[in-house]
Amino acid sequence: MENPIRDFSAQSLQNMDTSNQNPNGASVVTRFAPSPTGFLHIGGVRTALFAYLFAKKHGGEFILRIEDTDKNREVEGSIAHIQESLEWLGITWDYGPDKPGPFGSCLQSDRLEVYRRYAQTLIEKGLAYPDPYTADEVAGFRAAAEAEKRPFLFRNHRPETFAEWDGTQPLRFKVATIQRSEWHDEVRGDLSAGEEMLDDFIIMKADGFPTYNFAHIVDDHEMGVTHVMRGEEFIASMPKFLSLYEALGLPLPKFVTLPPIMGPDGKKKLSKRDGAKDLLEYRTDGYLPEAMRNFLALIGWNPGGEQELFPGEELVEAFSLERIQKSGGAFNEEKLKWMNKGYLALLPQTEREQYFVDALPATIRSLPQFSLERAAKLTDTALERTHNQVEIREAAEAGEYDWAFAAPEVPKELLKWKNDDSFEQALPRLKNALKLLQNADFGSPEGVKAALWEYAEEVGKGELLWPLRVALTGRERSPDPFVCSWVLGQEETMTRVNGVII
Ligand code: GLU
Repeated sequence: MENPIRDFSAQSLQNMDTSNQNPNGASVVTRFAPSPTGFLHIGGVRTALFAYLFAKKHGGEFILRIEDTDKNREVEGSIAHIQESLEWLGITWDYGPDKPGPFGSCLQSDRLEVYRRYAQTLIEKGLAYPDPYTADEVAGFRAAAEAEKRPFLFRNHRPETFAEWDGTQPLRFKVATIQRSEWHDEVRGDLSAGEEMLDDFIIMKADGFPTYNFAHIVDDHEMGVTHVMRGEEFIASMPKFLSLYEALGLPLPKFVTLPPIMGPDGKKKLSKRDGAKDLLEYRTDGYLPEAMRNFLALIGWNPGGEQELFPGEELVEAFSLERIQKSGGAFNEEKLKWMNKGYLALLPQTEREQYFVDALPATIRSLPQFSLERAAKLTDTALERTHNQVEIREAAEAGEYDWAFAAPEVPKELLKWKNDDSFEQALPRLKNALKLLQNADFGSPEGVKAALWEYAEEVGKGELLWPLRVALTGRERSPDPFVCSWVLGQEETMTRVNGVII
């Protein structure tokens, strides 16, 4: 039949093995297949995360396959960087560059023999041919096509006969000329594309490496991948891929197209600049891996219901293919911050303290009264106002925490409460407070409060608490005086109050 419509979704093709058995025996096998051309950015990591979550949800396997077939684009160190990024997020692989599977290595550059074998079967079937043309000849074909105002297609120049392929010429695949391909996508439903995309494409290059188009299909089959999860940029190439599956007689995996990542407004695609940030920069900025994971999972996947934080294994349990959206998901850094704060709140106290202390710059550590004990006590109040370690560092650099580690200069005028005519009116109140502080319990902010509260209510809260806070911190804005007193401890608190009344 000439130019038939091929409905790949029905898997109705003859000679196709539709059993979809995978050699690993797992019911679900997914993979993340980055090219080692640099660091992992948000889009890549989100793909990896979805593939990982889906496999784990079904007790399946997740493969990290390195697609290093383009040696010119390879960036040194990127495989290690990719591994480190995924490990940071807790995305662990069953097979990866460091762990071959029953199918062999997970590095495509180690698998050249496999691709050659598959290429050979295509040649034997008469479905692939070594490209016999020189660059000049191709330029001539192209010019002739342009002159006649028709598209240039390799498939119009297939050689009648060709010599045996010795592996040093590029090998072209004879695509099936079909009007339309139709196939099913687990997220997008039934899709189709016309023949205009189809031309004889290279499957093996002159350097002995396969192209992506060919290698990923061979490997997905060899590795038993059941669900191919990737971005929408691959939809356009589906007619090519389908033509190859058919030629190789391979069963189709399920195709799962993930939605694009949009900017914060949800309308425009995430800009190159925002999306190009290295995932590990978020680690440097003090984002917790659980927060990042949770945040990424919600870009394009909607768990339904009100729950937004999915700590521990909850994300795996909640994840489902059915709830992956068709339309784009917004990348909203404000939401990431909010989530980080949520996960910081779930940390054990000692870890929260460590997190805060780790973020403090050297300038803070060199202040005369710096101690880890005081820094730890400052943690909760500081984390109420910050979302990550960058913000902690900024607050520290703006001097917000200096009062805790150095006796402040107290501008006398600042002691004046708004109801007072002059700062001196606050001094007798501070004197009385000093007496009360002598017997206060400094074991907690509440202990300090208990000692002062009755008197504060008697004289007016602002009348006492404002000048007291200013005496302790020298600042217009700071945590409340009970917290400040507890952070500083009894001796330092008394010394500072005393310092302003004499
Ligand atoms: N190596 C391809 C990429 O990095 C993988 C695409 C796929 O998942 O099939 O874009």
